Amino acid sequence: MRPAVQRIQVLRGPLRYPVLVAPRGAALVSDFLARQPGMLVVVTDTHVARHVWPLIREACRRRGRRLPAPLVLPAGEATKRWGSVVRVQRALLARRCDRSTCVVALGGGVVLDVAGFAAATYMRGVQWVAVPTSLLAMVDAAVGGKVGIDLAGTKNIVGAFHQPRAVLAGTDFLRTLPERERRNGLAEVVKLGMVADRRLFECLEERAREWRRPQPRRDAALVTRCCTIKARLVADDEQDRRGIRARLNFGHTIGHALEADARQGLLHGEAVALGMLAACAVATAHDLASDTLRRRLQRVLVRLGLRVVLPRAPRIALLRRAWQRDKKLCMGAPRFVLTLRIGAASVDHRVSEAQIVESLRVIVAPPREPRLRPPARPRAATRQGVR
Ligand code: NAD
Repeated sequence: MRPAVQRIQVLRGPLRYPVLVAPRGAALVSDFLARQPGMLVVVTDTHVARHVWPLIREACRRRGRRLPAPLVLPAGEATKRWGSVVRVQRALLARRCDRSTCVVALGGGVVLDVAGFAAATYMRGVQWVAVPTSLLAMVDAAVGGKVGIDLAGTKNIVGAFHQPRAVLAGTDFLRTLPERERRNGLAEVVKLGMVADRRLFECLEERAREWRRPQPRRDAALVTRCCTIKARLVADDEQDRRGIRARLNFGHTIGHALEADARQGLLHGEAVALGMLAACAVATAHDLASDTLRRRLQRVLVRLGLRVVLPRAPRIALLRRAWQRDKKLCMGAPRFVLTLRIGAASVDHRVSEAQIVESLRVIVAPPREPRLRPPARPRAATRQGVR
């Protein structure tokens, strides 16, 4: 018996597309790709090329569809740059791709952002399919059609809205995802609970430890729930202009600035987790939420194994430069998404720089207690002394 495939519809009208979620990824993806007309160009990264690509290639071959070798980009955030987009576009040109071509983005959020952006701009837009393989990409990056790259240390500053033809999320692919990357994705799940789904947040509070390990069927239920939330927010505000989709930016103003500081060495979700804690402190300072909210959030993050203090002291000048370039800036002041209670976010709060700096206190490790010198040991008594 084939395991059930969950289907979530994103958007309406001509932009409408499905998110299909199943615990068996190779069957799900090959089923879809085998039926696609036109040329398929797979873009992936070095890790996914090793762990996931062979499963998909074999499953497609068994269905009579031979896929050409993928274009493999280096794994990691540094790949989100113009050079990678140009590489994908050159490959499309070299393979004589035309407007009937479909780009298959196979990987985490980085591959999806780069390959989706290349697809958005090659010949003024060709189709693409998102095949997310990291938890973060399944619960967040794959849905909603935002694609783009970083520039001069500023996250996602160049990009486009280009909705995929479909999102195919196979949760057994998560078995090879490193534990740290899984926790990174769980941070975005927490965010969705904080801004839009109280019950999801409570579920995490009750069963955080269970979620730390991959389990394809349980993960399929989690991914379905997250994609349903995101699809709802995207449906009401596709181009992120009405303040509905903007709720998903909770934790991102400070998160992006922390992520840009290479010395901290934080992954996207880890930085967002810390950014959410700081945003809660801003809400408390504005008398919009009680500090219990931040403490509940902190407890869940700890249970999920996420860090709640910065690895190093923040460099304020560097952070300031990052948030001053943030897309969410409005007339010179950063705009914050604040959570007023679990499951309800509110957007467009102007926050002064002094308040942001103050909020960072909650994610800075307390100074270490000065180590007390051990009392001097009494000299061993010498025979002479005994005498
Ligand atoms: P990532 O793409 O770098 O993937 C994380 C790591 O996991 C990489 O090393 C990757 O090779 C590896 N990996 C992925 N799947 C694997 C698997 N199944 N097995 C083994 N290894 C695997 O990062 P990410 O956390 O997936 O995504 C983060 C990026 O997504 C950021 O750049 C962020 O800005 C972006 N993002 C975009 C959106 C959007 O709406 N477009 C939303 C959220 C985040």
